[in-house]
Amino acid sequence: MYSKGRAWIELNLKNLKHNIEEFRRLLPWDCDLMPAVKANAYGHGAVPVAKALQEQGIHAFCVASAAEGAELRQAGITGQLLVLGYTHPAEFDDLVDYELIQTVVDGNYAEELQRDGRRFTVHVGIDTGMHRIGERWENIGEIVKIFQMSHLSVTGVFSHLCVSDGQSEKERAYTLEQIRHFEYVVEELHRQGFSDFKCHLQGSYGILNYSQYCFDYARAGIAFYGIYSGKNDSTKTRLDLVPVLSLKARVISVRELYKGEGAGYGLTYRSKENRKIAVLSIGYADGIPRNLSNCGYVLCNGKTAPIVGRICMDQMMVDVTGISQISPGDEAVLIGKSGNLEIRAEDLAQWAGTISNEIVSRLGERLERVAE
Ligand SMILES: *Cc1c(COP(=O)(O)O)cnc(C)c1O
Repeated sequence: MYSKGRAWIELNLKNLKHNIEEFRRLLPWDCDLMPAVKANAYGHGAVPVAKALQEQGIHAFCVASAAEGAELRQAGITGQLLVLGYTHPAEFDDLVDYELIQTVVDGNYAEELQRDGRRFTVHVGIDTGMHRIGERWENIGEIVKIFQMSHLSVTGVFSHLCVSDGQSEKERAYTLEQIRHFEYVVEELHRQGFSDFKCHLQGSYGILNYSQYCFDYARAGIAFYGIYSGKNDSTKTRLDLVPVLSLKARVISVRELYKGEGAGYGLTYRSKENRKIAVLSIGYADGIPRNLSNCGYVLCNGKTAPIVGRICMDQMMVDVTGISQISPGDEAVLIGKSGNLEIRAEDLAQWAGTISNEIVSRLGERLERVAE
């Protein structure tokens, strides 16, 4: 396959290494990184990212599904692979075959695993206030029952914070309460004689905003890729984190648009004067949100080129009127740097009215991932 032909992602592995070092600087020595490489490593490419992390001495990873875990094992990733979500009993084979750690999503699910008859390694989810996954923190009796199930080998307990990105007094109080609930569960388990298990609580914002509370693992996700969820995060200055991903597409055609003409489906863009339009070989099927139609810009030759017309499935158009030297075959930057300018995933997220997590995790299979 020809590399960088149509549209692609460039991975800056030096920046990834830099981010690892930044997190390690912040975390206590006895807290290991357990990066989230779910959703194709937030769109970056699970296999190249996990391989690079493994080379940097990381030996624990979070995935969303058994299939994601299987993919990493087949690519030669060793160490702990925790499936954070639900695995259907029809896929229990994968848990055994690929030595994955399954999350116990609640008491019923623990019984389902137990009934299967095979032996599973699990981490027990604890619901400390998010009310999504886990056995409620108050139900110590139920949690202990899971520890005692004959076919389950419980090697960890974990919970998840739901407002750790917020800095208001209310949000901080809620997070501290979640932390207290989690510590209570861990202490109760120790008191009842269970000691051979790991605990973990924090994702990116839990680590950045509550670093004094680290446990055995830190489940860094979005920030690990050098991206903040929102453009106006109050967390910004804590660590020097740099983006790993650039998103680029080829200019496939440069054409005139005469005064008064429309462009694209629905002719939603109309030129008020003669314009020059560049067509890019990337579209919403690659993960460019369709609601960026007539909104935001890309970078061509170090200059901004506003998006014009509707984003199509496989193509989009930008206005390159002010850009003198541009021709088919040139590169356009949708996320990343060109000359002195930079578009961050946070910018795209803001234009599209979402968070950068959604932008990057939806970058499509069609995009080639090139590690550099
Ligand atoms: C996705 C996820 C993470 C990582 O979250 P970020 O905010 O991206 O750092 C951590 N823990 C759980 C349970 C998750 O689902």
